[in-house]
Amino acid sequence: MNDPRRYVVIGGGLAGLASAVWLAEAGKQVTLLERRGRLGGRTHAVEVPSLHDLPDNGQHVIATGYDNLFRYLTSVGTRQHVQFPDRGILRWPGGRTAVMGTKGLPALRSLLGAHPDMSPVDRARAAVATVRLGWQCLNQPADLAELTTDQWFTRLGMPAKAREALWDWLALGIAAEPVSQGSAKAFADVLATGIRLGIRHREAVSIGYPTTDLDTLFVSGAERVFERHGVQVRHRAVARHIHIENGVVTGVTLVDGEVVPADAVVCAVPNSSIAGLLDDLPEHDEIYAAADKLGFTPIVSTNLYLDRPIGTKAAMEALIGGGGVIDEVFDRQRMHGRNPLDNWLYCLTTSGAYEQIHKPHHEVVDEQMALLRRYYPQARDAEVVHAQVVPMPRATFSQVVGTEGLRPPQQTSVPTLVLAGDWTSTDWSATMESAAQSAARAVELLLGLPAPQSISN
Ligand SMILES: Cc1cc2nc3c(=O)[nH]c(=O)nc-3n(C[C@H](O)[C@H](O)[C@H](O)COP(=O)(O)OP(=O)(O)OC[C@H]3O[C@@H](n4cnc5c(N)ncnc54)[C@H](O)[C@@H]3O)c2cc1C
Repeated sequence: MNDPRRYVVIGGGLAGLASAVWLAEAGKQVTLLERRGRLGGRTHAVEVPSLHDLPDNGQHVIATGYDNLFRYLTSVGTRQHVQFPDRGILRWPGGRTAVMGTKGLPALRSLLGAHPDMSPVDRARAAVATVRLGWQCLNQPADLAELTTDQWFTRLGMPAKAREALWDWLALGIAAEPVSQGSAKAFADVLATGIRLGIRHREAVSIGYPTTDLDTLFVSGAERVFERHGVQVRHRAVARHIHIENGVVTGVTLVDGEVVPADAVVCAVPNSSIAGLLDDLPEHDEIYAAADKLGFTPIVSTNLYLDRPIGTKAAMEALIGGGGVIDEVFDRQRMHGRNPLDNWLYCLTTSGAYEQIHKPHHEVVDEQMALLRRYYPQARDAEVVHAQVVPMPRATFSQVVGTEGLRPPQQTSVPTLVLAGDWTSTDWSATMESAAQSAARAVELLLGLPAPQSISN
């Protein structure tokens, strides 16, 4: 029998898109409400009309362990647009580089000491500390949630050079917070997930990237699914309140006063937008307080179109050193097979960008160009053809010490209302996989509801 229930998904980011796609695949009637004029949330392309190019709001990398994200990409038909390279590059000022293996034995070697200047003693110490770190990820010390990653690395005896070349950078990438603030537990939890997935897949987790823009990767395919299954997508539909009567969801009020009828809702908005939506839910105070405490961390992305190539050796390069925040440089020619005549696109991403986020765009561009010139000899005379700065003050929720246990589960006390979004409780930090995993769990809960006739109206 057809399910007559109306499923409403609030939020058209990855969590909402995946929820809507999977509900539609299951044959449900779905309406997707998105506040903005476009879908994609924090993963989207930003057009540069003057150059007919489509860079992203920020370079996104993908891990082999992103099982739910791959399920989504398979559903929307874009799985082929993700690639996993064999290596990345670590780069020091002046242009010195070291290869960082991302697969198999080279990856293991990098894990145990990627810095070219490490002495044999340091390498041995790094190996011991790394084994200890892996063990403590799976068997966590009771006080881990009280430690920053910095304190944890010190306690593990991780040598400074191993930290500089790998661990501090990895921790910053995973928690989007500098090691002086990032929670050791949040980092350890993600590594534990990676270790478990590596064992399950019999292959260590490695890092890759999309070979196309984020709209093509995440949005266009979803729109095709929506069209095929009759999903109603409403742009500029800002949800204000989810109505619950007698323990069941009845509708969603938009800011203009319209009520969208609903029998089940996936609320897939970020922690910054949750306030007010759940007022009818008995545990709303607790969820709002957690959303507030989780806070935000800023990321600044800079897309630099230069008049010449700068001499990268790999698609992904990490710049080591500097004032604590380490930048990553992504070569879109290598990643996307871009074959430019007169401009070369390099995407730089600064996580935990507490200083940069307040700077005027021209200052950010000047700083990033100075950085490229310091690290890439070929960039010394390069000119900027076009620059685009994308500041994201609320890029992700923050995983500093003290945020342990705050992320709410997808299930609520009202069976027809579920939560999704990267900030809800998952096996990952604030990532696309967290968004996709939260959607998988939210949809599973709704698909497990009793048949329609036994639901009271
Ligand atoms: C610059 C940057 C780089 C990143 N790099 C990586 C990376 O390399 N790897 C990785 O895995 N992750 C990365 N992330 C994180 C990743 O992008 C996010 O974790 C993920 O996209 C979050 O998806 P989401 O659906 O949970 O939230 P969102 O994408 O924020 O989607 C929520 C949606 O809800 C809508 N909305 C909000 N309120 C309402 C309302 N009241 N009514 C209707 N709609 C509403 C919003 O407009 C938005 O579209 C990065 C993020 C940024 C910003």
